[in-house]
Amino acid sequence: MVHFVGAGPGAADLITLRGAEALRQADVVIYAGSLVNPALLENCRADCELHNSAAMTLEQVLAVMERAEAAGKTTVRLHTGDPSLYGAIREQMDALRERGIPFDLTPGVSSFSAAAAALEAEYTLPGLSQSLILSRLAGRTPVPAGEELSQLAAHGASMVLFLSAGMLPQLQEELLAGGAYTPETPAALVYKVSWPEEKLCRCTLGTLAETGAREGIYKTALVLVGDFLAGPYERSKLYDPDFSTEYRKARGETT
Ligand code: SAH
Repeated sequence: MVHFVGAGPGAADLITLRGAEALRQADVVIYAGSLVNPALLENCRADCELHNSAAMTLEQVLAVMERAEAAGKTTVRLHTGDPSLYGAIREQMDALRERGIPFDLTPGVSSFSAAAAALEAEYTLPGLSQSLILSRLAGRTPVPAGEELSQLAAHGASMVLFLSAGMLPQLQEELLAGGAYTPETPAALVYKVSWPEEKLCRCTLGTLAETGAREGIYKTALVLVGDFLAGPYERSKLYDPDFSTEYRKARGETT
């Protein structure tokens, strides 16, 4: 059996209870060493076999899983944040299915959730934005037609950009090219959120690239952009005394 587990954004206590239990039970752990906090591996048994996937190919990862399965062992594949985002898990799941190896998934706290918590922010504010776009700049992995950042940025929604901190000048340019954000639109560069070396740099879209250069941030960072970081918003209907919900009558309403 293979358990895909989300490790969370970094801090060792931001893994789920289920994920931590899977690590305690595991005979074999394959972890994404570039981004998974090694402190999480302290959950593992002393005799657990550890593999850092940062130096492995998909074929090598699968070979470890196959060998473990043949020996009746349990494997944990530990991915950073939530595995469903830029986790390259689909190709592993398809290969396991082909080989008849059972697997399951445990979600994790994504870095975009941890970034909002660190900045004390809410992505979806009434009257400002009710949508969050998660995306990236095209790098060595291209993005499909229709998903160019300038097109996504044209919505003016809240946005979080992964895997793009090494290309901040281009990122800034493409986000501005959408026409909905301005150089004054609030932005933030969030480095290694929830790690001891975390850095939270609030800026504007117009000063994003210079902020990255000044702080020396070029990887393991998210870019957040949108008025949700600062702009005025409307209070929620859900907790408005003049608004009825399924669970609560509005002020002055009797039946
Ligand atoms: N599955 C992960 C994302 C993996 S892609 C998740 O849900 O968070 C790797 C990218 O995620 C990095 O380039 C960076 O943009 C972002 N990232 C992952 N962990 C991060 C952290 N602790 N702080 C800031 N960005 C992080």
